[in-house]
Amino acid sequence: MNETRRCLYCQRSFLPSRYRPQQRVCGQPDCQRRRCADSRRLLLTSDPEYRLVVRDSQKQWWEEHPDYQKERRKANPGLVQRNRQKQHIRDQKRRLARLVRNNLVLDLKHSAAEVCLVGPKVHRLDRNNLASAQVLILPSVVELSARLSSS
Ligand SMILES: [Zn+2]
Repeated sequence: MNETRRCLYCQRSFLPSRYRPQQRVCGQPDCQRRRCADSRRLLLTSDPEYRLVVRDSQKQWWEEHPDYQKERRKANPGLVQRNRQKQHIRDQKRRLARLVRNNLVLDLKHSAAEVCLVGPKVHRLDRNNLASAQVLILPSVVELSARLSSS
């Protein structure tokens, strides 16, 4: 007779199937989904043939749905806006990192949350115009920028 054991994912105890005595994950849909995803991920890294099959399958899907991205963007205008904002912030961060490296921007406090004093027009930072300033707080999760002085 089987004994209960602890699920690898949710840590709850469960009774393994008598057909699969080595079962390490409970039958909850979330845990099974995670198990499936993990084994697929592992297979992708360990089995070159499987990787090729998946790549070909994805390639075929994209060939059969060439307008997917265009339609998705059309159906979700908020998505486009969000992507644009995220890209803008990534661009700002990249520019800031370069400018801090080149000592064009004063790094007020270097930590996990970076604080930099920068000029009013972030897209023109390369021109080193620091006449008025802006505080950019760039933590990993929340992006915030507030003007110290107006231009
Ligand atoms: Zn579980």
